[in-house]
Amino acid sequence: MSNLEDLYREIILDHYRSPRNRGELECPPAHRIEGFNPLCGDEITVYVAADGATLSDIKISGHGCSISQSSASLMSAAVKGKPIADVRATIDTFKRLMTVHESNLDDEQEPEPVDLRALGELAALQGVVKFPVRIKCATLAWNTLAQGLDELSN
Ligand code: ZN
Repeated sequence: MSNLEDLYREIILDHYRSPRNRGELECPPAHRIEGFNPLCGDEITVYVAADGATLSDIKISGHGCSISQSSASLMSAAVKGKPIADVRATIDTFKRLMTVHESNLDDEQEPEPVDLRALGELAALQGVVKFPVRIKCATLAWNTLAQGLDELSN
């Protein structure tokens, strides 16, 4: 298991040091959405552009801890060029990954298991759930993107 944790740590550090899709998009036509996590001081600005039902481009700017920034980079790589319906599904899956299920021992309301293979590199962030104070760091970019998709469809 430690090898897998090492690999996950490498992925997170790689995206922190070399963030993907870093920058800005011209608004309009792109939408600009800001997210802030006061618990940690993380700030994320997400720029999204749509072409029909496709998320044609995404750029990220901002600053904060390694979890918030690498999560934003991983997210941008996972959703760029994808159908918006698929992007929404990925957001839902990722947020499920980041949910602490304290009632795991109860057999009622067993949560639907998350398919880690479908998440690809995003699975690297699953260890964050062991540190509840960092979950808001990991989900910041995703909540910001979700808000952006809502604005795109209006
Ligand atoms: Zn943070």
